[in-house]
Amino acid sequence: MPSIDSVKVAVRVRPFSQREKDAGSQCVISMNANSTTICDPKNPGHVKTFTFDLAYWSHSGFLKDEDGRLVSTGSDNRYAGQREIFCDLGQGVLDSAWQGYNATLLAYGQTGSGKSYSMIGCGADRGIIPIVCEELFKAIQNQEQNKQYQVTFSMLEIYNEQVIDLLSKTKKRGGLKVREDHQQGFYVDGLKQVPCDSYAQIERLMEQGTKIRTTASTSMNVTSSRSHVVITIQFKQIFLDEEITKQSVINLVDLAGSERQKSSGSEGDRLREGTHVNLSLTMLGNVISALAEMAVGKKVLHIPYRDSVLTKLLQSALGGNSKTIMIAAISPADMCYEETLSTLRYAERTK
Ligand code: ADP
Repeated sequence: MPSIDSVKVAVRVRPFSQREKDAGSQCVISMNANSTTICDPKNPGHVKTFTFDLAYWSHSGFLKDEDGRLVSTGSDNRYAGQREIFCDLGQGVLDSAWQGYNATLLAYGQTGSGKSYSMIGCGADRGIIPIVCEELFKAIQNQEQNKQYQVTFSMLEIYNEQVIDLLSKTKKRGGLKVREDHQQGFYVDGLKQVPCDSYAQIERLMEQGTKIRTTASTSMNVTSSRSHVVITIQFKQIFLDEEITKQSVINLVDLAGSERQKSSGSEGDRLREGTHVNLSLTMLGNVISALAEMAVGKKVLHIPYRDSVLTKLLQSALGGNSKTIMIAAISPADMCYEETLSTLRYAERTK
């Protein structure tokens, strides 16, 4: 049995964006070991400290050393790169998969806080998803001969509680039905599951899925930050001598931006999007916090998986013996104070 600390929460602060720098933003976040402190820019005496399993300092501030290199602004702060995040979080996901357990890794935060950067990456700075996939195939190549492996990959988007297949080339990629089956639980009827035998193949599929997401969102007049993207890897190990199999599901989820929709100013489609996003993020928080309570031995009568499409689809890989990891992505800037505080509060609920 894996350890009971099945829900792990990490917070990652990104560097200032150009817009924040241009606006002369002040840093309201500081980190010390596992604790993250946020200071109210309107009331500097008002600080709040949160403690999570891990805290990553990627914020390079404005401090430069004598050689012009950016240095972090505190001696205890950790400046975390993509590899480090993979080693701390992604490796555990892979280890669980090899043992036959399911795992879910989610990135939460307001739009622009670094969710996609952490999950997918940016250019050569590859994020957790590509590294997890690459390491999985590297490990498969180094395994003994008397085992066979099957890896399948799927990529979908949830927008306004509708499921869109990001790997389908036909026009009928939207509006797929979520069904329930006694054996496999909830599943998306007709979703494309592509068998893969190399990391290069997964890389191509991810590119293709990302392209379809952009095209689909443009044609529907949707902002892509208002949808969740769920990448699922099904990993099966077949032990030829013993005639047994081990199967696991890895879900990697880039969640929709968590920002509150201002009720004034948004109407029609935007308001509907915002309402769906906020509701499904709340439902997810409810599920994860129920799981976290169970993990510390509290009695939980009901885990509300059925309340949203996202939690239905993640059911098999959230809870039970599964590993759940949440990365709360935040900006260091004073102008994002309210949203950052709400992200930290959300993450705290799921601990
Ligand atoms: P989100 O997915 O939350 O909307 P992005 O991941 O697109 O946000 O991040 C917004 C911008 O910040 C991008 O240009 C991204 O490259 C940059 N960024 C985010 N996190 C980091 C980080 N840890 N280090 C360097 N740049 C980052």
